[in-house]
Amino acid sequence: MTDCLFCRIVAGELPAEIVREAEHTVAFRDIAPQAPVHVLIVPREHLGSAAEIEERHGPMLAETARVATELAQAEGIAERGWRLITNVGPDAGQAVFHLHFHLLGGRPLGRLVQGSPEGVR
Ligand code: AMP
Repeated sequence: MTDCLFCRIVAGELPAEIVREAEHTVAFRDIAPQAPVHVLIVPREHLGSAAEIEERHGPMLAETARVATELAQAEGIAERGWRLITNVGPDAGQAVFHLHFHLLGGRPLGRLVQGSPEGVR
């Protein structure tokens, strides 16, 4: 059994509020939402972060974009806008080392998720 948290959610071994299951990805609600809509889109394949993406992951990335767009529509944030981000490494605050994309929306998000416009150089 793997000790990777998101592998275990993908495998159904740990609970999560799953909102979409697709060929290459599973999407579930973040346990500590940073916005009214905060969904994680996670590849079924274990990749430590976006730094491990290879050419062959093209279909997974295309599916991620499609799922994000469809979920934004379903969650009612398509019109006002949304953000799709992934964190890599300590300066970005990556806490779970299985690639995931945060879909965020439902409030003004500023220029960075955890920063202020003043923080952008
Ligand atoms: P990151 O900082 O980009 O690695 O984001 C990890 C995210 O995973 C955080 O937003 C956490 O709130 C979220 N998270 C951690 N454990 C769980 C879980 N069991 N179910 C859903 N989301 C989780």
